[in-house]
Amino acid sequence: MGRVDGKVVLISGGARGMGAEEVGLFAREGARVVFGDILDDLGQQVETEQRALGHDVAYAHLDVTSEADWQSIVALAEERYGLLDALVNNAGISISAGGGAGNIAMEDTSVDDWDRVMDINSKGVFLGTKAAIPALRRAGGGSIVNISSIAGMTGAWSRSHPYNASKGAVRLFTKATAIQHAAEGIRANSVHPGPIMTPMSESTYADPEVAAQRLALVPLGRRAHPIEVAYGVLYLASDEASFVTGAELVIDGGCIAQ
Ligand code: NDP
Repeated sequence: MGRVDGKVVLISGGARGMGAEEVGLFAREGARVVFGDILDDLGQQVETEQRALGHDVAYAHLDVTSEADWQSIVALAEERYGLLDALVNNAGISISAGGGAGNIAMEDTSVDDWDRVMDINSKGVFLGTKAAIPALRRAGGGSIVNISSIAGMTGAWSRSHPYNASKGAVRLFTKATAIQHAAEGIRANSVHPGPIMTPMSESTYADPEVAAQRLALVPLGRRAHPIEVAYGVLYLASDEASFVTGAELVIDGGCIAQ
């Protein structure tokens, strides 16, 4: 018996990184998974791989900044599987100066940088939630898991201002969702990963000096594998977390405990 047997789960940014890991884990644990991304070739590849394993998954194009894309992917989930039980708002971007410490100084941050990061990381979560709430309500309740970051809880020399701001917005938006929809049986929680081995952070960690500086700040002394975050997301989406809402799950190797 899987931990999310028969549940219908929608995951954004599922073509690679943590999102792709979550697609695989949820499917292994018995869920039917609809997932979207802007990287259609990769997304279709993940779909093919998962189906070859006998998993019931469906990929569709989803730009999280598009309200119309969100409406269609939620409709796809309901048409294909009859209902929606859970939403994982995972898609996100980080901006960096490229190859260096990964941060961009305030004076070098353009209005376009700010808008792009806020659009994808914050507005994307709002639009996903807005589209999913009526479907979760029709299902009689459900779970929303928003991927924030430790950057949504603390500032750091190594991060850009808009990234911190966008992830902080996700943290509080999650609590507003939890409170406003608790009476409908809809739970909402945020996950706050520390450094994880995904394509997003590869260019930063490719520089051994920067990697050493960053890892020195991690009590467990390493970056995590995406599965170590996916298990937390699975827990929050599942019925095991039936009394958990408005909570923050930090998965960061001890970074913000110090
Ligand atoms: P990845 O870049 O590996 O994966 C994110 C996926 O989201 C990519 O496929 C990306 O495509 C996609 N995406 C970007 N923009 C959009 C959009 N507009 N609509 C739909 N999909 C989009 O990153 P991670 O797996 O590392 O990140 C997953 C989440 O975890 C993000 O929210 C990130 O901020 C967060 N996080 C990551 C940490 C880390 O150390 N990796 C730490 C803390 C939080 P594209 O490549 O085109 O951008």
